[in-house]
Amino acid sequence: MNLILLGAPGSGKGTLSEFLCEKNGFTQLSTGDLFRENISNKTQLGLEAQKYMNEGNLVPDSVTNSMVENYLKEKAQDLIFDGFPRTDDQALALDNMLEKLNDQIDKVIYLDIDESVLLGRLTGRLICKVCKRSYHKVNRKPLNEGVCDFDGGELFTRPDDQEDKIKTRLEAYHSQTAPLIKFYNDKILKVEAGNCTPEELYNRVVEVMGA
Ligand code: AMP
Repeated sequence: MNLILLGAPGSGKGTLSEFLCEKNGFTQLSTGDLFRENISNKTQLGLEAQKYMNEGNLVPDSVTNSMVENYLKEKAQDLIFDGFPRTDDQALALDNMLEKLNDQIDKVIYLDIDESVLLGRLTGRLICKVCKRSYHKVNRKPLNEGVCDFDGGELFTRPDDQEDKIKTRLEAYHSQTAPLIKFYNDKILKVEAGNCTPEELYNRVVEVMGA
């Protein structure tokens, strides 16, 4: 089964992916993580993507789609698409890629959240350099400051988690990504993602998926 997690930046897609991978055997395909990996490895793709990411804008579809197509050559089953697709063009491309592999998207989990919560979540977010788990400066502190509970990796703040970049990312979400809720109309499972812990969100998702 392949899932898409659809939702605004800060709605909890990454943390939910962690839970679904650990407890349900999925593999996470996060285009944001793939771009960041390319940036730290200083690849050509990373250099290209960085220009857009630094400003909070979407990386062009052609670049993003071919990165995903490459990934799918290695694995195309039991995936969680986290942060992809983000545009109509990407959604159509993904359908084509999966069709060629005799596969498909089975369900799309839409994380619905009040926008007022997002800014606080993102400006306080800390990410582990090693495992990419996320923490929060106030609401989900690590046991030891600056260090991941799981692997001791250094925690950092993403450069695009600054207020002005967040604003641009939210605009991109509303204008280009939110219309996908209609595109996936027959596969959407809507889950309320505000006012809950990551564990509660995971439980809500499991419940709607079983329904
Ligand atoms: P994320 O880690 O999902 O929040 O993504 C961080 C940034 O990576 C986004 O703000 C975009 O600049 C870029 N990005 C990630 N996924 C995509 C995508 N599917 N299409 C275009 N840009 C993307």
